[in-house]
Amino acid sequence: MSTSPPVLAVVGAGFSGVMTALHLLRRAQAVKVILIERRSPIGLGAAYATDDPVHRLNVRAGNMSAWPDRPDDFIDWLKARGLDIGPGDFATRGDYGRYLQSLLSALAEGQDSVGRLVIAPDEITAIEPAGRGWRLTCGMGRVIAADVVILALGNPPPRPPETIGPALETSNAFVADPWRWDPSELAEGRGPVLLLGSGLTMVDAALSLDRLAPHRPLISLSRRGLTPREHLGAPPCPLPAPPSSSLSPLEALAWLRAAADEHGWRTAIDALRPATQDMWRTWSLKRRAAFLRHARALWDVHRHRLSPEVAEHLDRMRTKGRLRVLAGKLVRADILEGGRAGLVWRPRGETDTWRLEADLVVNCTGPSADVERSTEPLIAGLAARRLIRADPLRLGLDVDLEHRVVRADGAPQPTLFAVGPITRGALWEINAVPDIRVQAAEVAAAALRALARPDG
Ligand SMILES: Cc1cc2nc3c(=O)[nH]c(=O)nc-3n(C[C@H](O)[C@H](O)[C@H](O)COP(=O)(O)OP(=O)(O)OC[C@H]3O[C@@H](n4cnc5c(N)ncnc54)[C@H](O)[C@@H]3O)c2cc1C
Repeated sequence: MSTSPPVLAVVGAGFSGVMTALHLLRRAQAVKVILIERRSPIGLGAAYATDDPVHRLNVRAGNMSAWPDRPDDFIDWLKARGLDIGPGDFATRGDYGRYLQSLLSALAEGQDSVGRLVIAPDEITAIEPAGRGWRLTCGMGRVIAADVVILALGNPPPRPPETIGPALETSNAFVADPWRWDPSELAEGRGPVLLLGSGLTMVDAALSLDRLAPHRPLISLSRRGLTPREHLGAPPCPLPAPPSSSLSPLEALAWLRAAADEHGWRTAIDALRPATQDMWRTWSLKRRAAFLRHARALWDVHRHRLSPEVAEHLDRMRTKGRLRVLAGKLVRADILEGGRAGLVWRPRGETDTWRLEADLVVNCTGPSADVERSTEPLIAGLAARRLIRADPLRLGLDVDLEHRVVRADGAPQPTLFAVGPITRGALWEINAVPDIRVQAAEVAAAALRALARPDG
């Protein structure tokens, strides 16, 4: 009988993967955790791999501790580095990335982690069952054997809208994945840049381009032209008690309206947060679908807000005409002679179409949630082997209440877990640190329980 410790492989080292790995190592001594990440530097993920000082957190520093049971951890870390950021302020995302890396390196460099934590800079291209465990294939063909696998893959990259012609899609005038794009590499010129979408990703790109390409007009185009709202300078306190999680979507809306009348809409939305996941779980599929259809766009811009600094910057850009936000539908877009993009769009509520030309189109339309249509090799392969399936509303991976990934035949897999925004279908509110930090602890506990089970 082998005496080597059980192996847990965590695929993806953004916030979700790093924190799940740290919880595993905190909870169990006799395990080996392999944390695998294809990006460099490791430990930042898509959100915190930026050192652009205009990129701020959109959650107050006081609510960004990585640990659910140590609420002041991030604030203490900032203080220890002489950074003058209080709990109600918004730190830079670069500082948050350094915080995450410091948590990881404190553990990786600690005496008792020798042999327990392995950081593997690689891409996992395939995962297959192997006996009672799993076989993970890396980009260069290396194979890792694991007893338990935890998918912490983050948001899947956006899918190009169907209205983007194939010649544009494969040209240098189109950025397919804004989270893996470096705006400093933008070619010189004065032509407009078109940002498709008007959410947080658009805001990120616009802020970077404002500094890096000050002469280029920036245009954002989205169906409704809604941009994220802003946080107030001071945090609301205290929050009213959340409503019962048994409310229907219509009852929740009525509760929000009444709470907004009394406390303001920001406080009302923040107060709802502790009940959101339970409410989502109790809603039928029909109710969830109705919420997505009627309320999602408005919910997103009110729920995921900008720091006051970023909101002010964006306002200045709009006032000066640096950034125009258009509401309308992209009818088609293709490459023109000379390599520019030509777009035809229809303003919201109108029948006539308009033309636009841009040097570059950046796809800021948000994650492509349908895992069954993914072109990522790992996800596509898992779907082809029927080891995963989309949740019924196609928001991400189907997982059960223990965060176990559900196979195409509906059976949860005892030793395959998922954590982070890709589990949105089960929890809805699982995009930001305050929610993911709780889930990461739960996933680690469930993964260790799975090892202890005879069928694990
Ligand atoms: C631009 C942006 C700003 C944000 N700002 C905030 C904020 O201020 N506050 C907040 O609370 N939340 C914020 N969020 C939400 C954010 O989603 C979460 O905070 C958190 O960072 C999600 O982490 P994650 O690890 O799940 O995903 P990610 O950060 O996307 O990490 C997933 C990692 O998995 C890796 N990976 C994927 N597939 C493979 C593979 N096959 N092999 C190896 N590695 C793989 C990816 O390279 C990536 O590094 C922001 C999100 C974005 C995109």
